[in-house]
Amino acid sequence: MKIAVLPGDGIGTEIVAEAVKVLNVLGLPLEMETALVGGAAYEAYGHPLPEATLKLAKESDAILFGAVGDWKYDKLDRPLRPEQAILGLRKNLGLFANFRPAICYEQLVGASSLKPELISGLDILIIRELTGDIYFGQPRGRRTATDGHFPGAEEAFDTMRYSRPEIERIAHVAFQAARKRSKRVTSVDKANVLETFQFWKDVVTEVGLQYPDVELDHMYVDNAAMQLVKAPKRFDVVVTGNMFGDILSDEASMLTGSIGMLPSASLNASNQGLYEPSHGSAPDIAGKGIANPLATILSAAMMLRFSLNQEASALRIEAAVQKVLAQGLRTADIYSDGTTRVSTREMGDAVVKVL
Ligand code: NAD
Repeated sequence: MKIAVLPGDGIGTEIVAEAVKVLNVLGLPLEMETALVGGAAYEAYGHPLPEATLKLAKESDAILFGAVGDWKYDKLDRPLRPEQAILGLRKNLGLFANFRPAICYEQLVGASSLKPELISGLDILIIRELTGDIYFGQPRGRRTATDGHFPGAEEAFDTMRYSRPEIERIAHVAFQAARKRSKRVTSVDKANVLETFQFWKDVVTEVGLQYPDVELDHMYVDNAAMQLVKAPKRFDVVVTGNMFGDILSDEASMLTGSIGMLPSASLNASNQGLYEPSHGSAPDIAGKGIANPLATILSAAMMLRFSLNQEASALRIEAAVQKVLAQGLRTADIYSDGTTRVSTREMGDAVVKVL
């Protein structure tokens, strides 16, 4: 089982090191190879996704990714910015299905800004289409500068587009995921205003006919944003397009109050996947040894489950994380009175010790 390890920038290197430590104690035949990506790759090779990194990613069964980006690259021409590495990997590997679970750990109920009764027991899965929509449309605008900005321009626009096969395949992913859960799918759209999303709604409805055991409902994105903070437990699986999914999955992850706890997976049609924490490179805390590595460790568990077919090991990691939380160990982002504050490395060591 070959894993490409791409730590990236900022806290990426710190948190990925802990996940690698955890993977190494499972006793599995894992071959891990590390490569540069993002700002680190730009510094070394002048490109955020060098050929060698892309080649390694393509040859691997799965990619364990940290995070990329730093404010210091904001002035670069857009194709050279660190974030382009993620878009490049998604595109080149056809990673069209993004899984973002938002789970509230009982020990962390107090970390949410919502009332405990609203989020206690929360377990929702947002499935975001990742390779279509307005993010991959035609960006238009008159470029008068090389830094990606448009001083003096009169307008700029992007085009939103979805094809039938793109919607069908993400809808199948959502219905199949729901079958393993509470058998409910909410498709989120903006069909009242956008043609693209009327089409989305029609196609998801058609695909739904093949899954009579799964309940399907539709919701406009503005209402979905509201319901997520009003009554999040009404959702089970939420499926939506690239842009709405980007926003709603961040909103859902913050319901639990702890962005440092939430993993994600991005899969292609052959279950090859990129696994990364839901958060970014956190330049504000990079190098301080205080970042929470649990989102990355839980991403490694998702990797074992979805791409490497090692469900038992995935469950072992998830149980070990529960156990260190029950022991009262907390990194700074989830610390509260009465718990024990630990560093990034100490948190990783604690998970390793339990395993
Ligand atoms: P961020 O997620 O990096 O940080 C937001 C806040 O959460 C910060 O205060 C940070 O300290 C905190 N935080 C994030 N992860 C944490 C962790 N594991 N433990 C403790 N605290 C944590 O988002 P941002 O500040 O908006 O972006 C910073 C950089 O990351 C930007 O360059 C952005 O483009 C990039 N980014 C990358 C990805 C990615 O690699 N997939 C995703 C989002 C943002």
